Amino acid sequence: MGILESLKTLLFGKHDVGGGKQDEKPGSAKAEKPADVSIGKKASIIKEPKEEKPVADKITVGHVHMSGCTGCLVSFADNYEGLLTILDKYADLVYCLTLADVRHIPEMDVALVEGSVCISDHLSVEEIIETRKNAKIVVALGGCACYGNITRFCRGGQQNQPQHESYLPIGDLIDVDVYIPGCAPTPQQIRNVCVMAYLLLKGNDEQKALAGAYLTPLMNLAKAGTQACGCDIMTQGINQGLCMGCGSCAAACPVRAITMQYGKPQIERDMCIKCGACYAQCPRSFFSFDVVNQYEGIMEAIDAAMEP
Ligand code: SF4
Ligand code: SF4
Repeated sequence: MGILESLKTLLFGKHDVGGGKQDEKPGSAKAEKPADVSIGKKASIIKEPKEEKPVADKITVGHVHMSGCTGCLVSFADNYEGLLTILDKYADLVYCLTLADVRHIPEMDVALVEGSVCISDHLSVEEIIETRKNAKIVVALGGCACYGNITRFCRGGQQNQPQHESYLPIGDLIDVDVYIPGCAPTPQQIRNVCVMAYLLLKGNDEQKALAGAYLTPLMNLAKAGTQACGCDIMTQGINQGLCMGCGSCAAACPVRAITMQYGKPQIERDMCIKCGACYAQCPRSFFSFDVVNQYEGIMEAIDAAMEP
């Protein structure tokens, strides 16, 4: 077969070669349909079995929104691809009024609670009690959940919820396992807690140990909870020579009982309302050698976990 015939065979199929139909153009109504070779190939590609992606043994996580500004959820979302990695590999988001259409708090491994509780609203009180019942680990996410933050000073009259007044941090109503202080906490810290909660619940022995070291200071912070006050930061931080003069305590104090003088905090005890904000915000108050000594291993575990 010459080159011309071969080309014709390719374009028009065997029927057109030397069959008296050379005058018919491929685009004309009379032209016959080209051989179905390529379609057959496509069909066989589609039929090939897809590679099954293994389903990770995920934990379940919920975001419970009490009275707060949603800044903590925004910070969580600010992990960008990191958030997708967490949702892809480690955690199913089973409750989040902003992102998922689930109306009742389900059972879950970890509840990230944002905001404080309005005690003049019985639904809010029921919701936080229900959260404690349904979650294995309750995390106070951010300043409002941890120590009330700005919501301590709300006195009702908000435009959409005028009856709401008297707010308490969640630790005043239920037992809390982990505190993540900050207004808002950094995206990295929220991400790290999620990864460490996963390793604690699903990891091997070494990973569980690392997760325990990472989470212990944040668990101790939750134990101190709203009982901590200006005196604690004085005795456990400043008087121990641990203060580095960063000023976070003064910035966090809602009644300005702390001022920085010559690079060190001075606390006006009579003004202190014992909210615990300074203690939770101080990077040295929950300082732990367990974490410092395992820092490299912890960071390596987190980096490895976050690889896409
Ligand atoms: S010193 Fe300020 S931030 Fe610290 S517990 Fe007292 S009122 Fe709260
Ligand atoms: S937050 Fe802690 S380290 Fe920073 S100034 Fe206050 S006491 Fe010192």
